[in-house]
Amino acid sequence: MRNRLIARRAPHTAHAFGRGYSPTLHKGLYTRLAGSFLLIGACACPRRLTRGLADDPSAKMPTLQRNAMAGITPARTNRPAMAKRGVMEVSLIFPEGEVIRRYYKGLIYLAARTCYSEKTPQQIWSEFLADKTPPERVLKLIEHVIESGHHSTIEHISFTFAISGVSRALSHQLVRHRIGVAFDQQSQRYVKYKEPQYVVPPSIEANPDALREFERFRDVSEEIYHRFLAQGIPAEDARFVFPNAVTTNLIMTVNLRQLMHMAGLRLCTLAQWEIRQLFKLIRKELMAADPYFGRLLVPKCVPLGYCDEKRNEDEHCKIRPHKNSVFRVWELYKRGQLVERTAAETDGG
Ligand SMILES: Cc1cc2nc3c(=O)[nH]c(=O)nc-3n(C[C@H](O)[C@H](O)[C@H](O)COP(=O)(O)OP(=O)(O)OC[C@H]3O[C@@H](n4cnc5c(N)ncnc54)[C@H](O)[C@@H]3O)c2cc1C
Repeated sequence: MRNRLIARRAPHTAHAFGRGYSPTLHKGLYTRLAGSFLLIGACACPRRLTRGLADDPSAKMPTLQRNAMAGITPARTNRPAMAKRGVMEVSLIFPEGEVIRRYYKGLIYLAARTCYSEKTPQQIWSEFLADKTPPERVLKLIEHVIESGHHSTIEHISFTFAISGVSRALSHQLVRHRIGVAFDQQSQRYVKYKEPQYVVPPSIEANPDALREFERFRDVSEEIYHRFLAQGIPAEDARFVFPNAVTTNLIMTVNLRQLMHMAGLRLCTLAQWEIRQLFKLIRKELMAADPYFGRLLVPKCVPLGYCDEKRNEDEHCKIRPHKNSVFRVWELYKRGQLVERTAAETDGG
């Protein structure tokens, strides 16, 4: 018989959820919390990571590779019809998808296997290169190390991304990440911009009055910038009149451990919209190179099994239940107040 856990309310907990308590609401809440409870055991197993998150079927290969094959240079892709609009572009520059698919799982396997084997790393690697290591064994060990938090093993693989057309507001957030990631960014000291580009936030774009103000301010600051340069003021000082909206370009090289950490924070629905967009594109690039690694880039709540964001206590984001809900169910479980419900009861609501 198909059973499901539900919560049984003890008399002394009648008003545990505040003055708005009603038995019907309470029952619904308990049922929902019981569902949350089942997620407590969720962990960072790669197979489980993307449950409920759709992969992009259109992504067949990294953008740069796709464009190169089509004879399109990056400068011509997606360029906006509207003047001065920066367009965010992300390309996985290195390594190529073929290298990732051929060697990257093997490298993680090598790192992990070296810990548990009497064999030398040279022997383990030779066996891998000679296809003597069954692929399912490789994947099983990788899943094991990721799931159990043995994450130094996934620091051995890195990815280099070219990022262009993002705002300085975004780059300031991005470069706050310190560990396992290297950045190089276009210099406003050395570059004298002839035609600066700008990112327009959707909320301003959607408001004609605000957009007019935005463009007026942009044009004034740009005019002053060019006047300063003409007066011999160095670019490093003239740039002080630029708004946060002005675009920048970066190269980012990051190991898998840190990329998963960064994606966990920045794919969260509470992250700022532009950096969230950036990580969606990073994920898309990685999906195109090797979906196995692309699928590891998910909001932090997915491997955790619950949301730990204070701003989501009302659970308006529904990717995972809030930890408060999970802990409430855990408390009920500890008090023996979760009971089995039969299939008939479950189907009956
Ligand atoms: C939604 C959101 C809102 C934010 N709002 C603000 C804000 O208002 N103001 C603001 O200043 N910043 C803000 N930040 C930036 C945030 O505080 C971090 O600086 C940024 O996300 C970098 O992440 P990290 O601390 O995990 O560092 P990373 O460099 O990515 O480090 C990775 C991990 O390594 C470990 N680590 C790194 N450095 C150290 C260290 N020195 N000591 C011990 N352990 C270390 C930590 O476990 C850390 O999580 C925000 C970030 C997000 C995602």
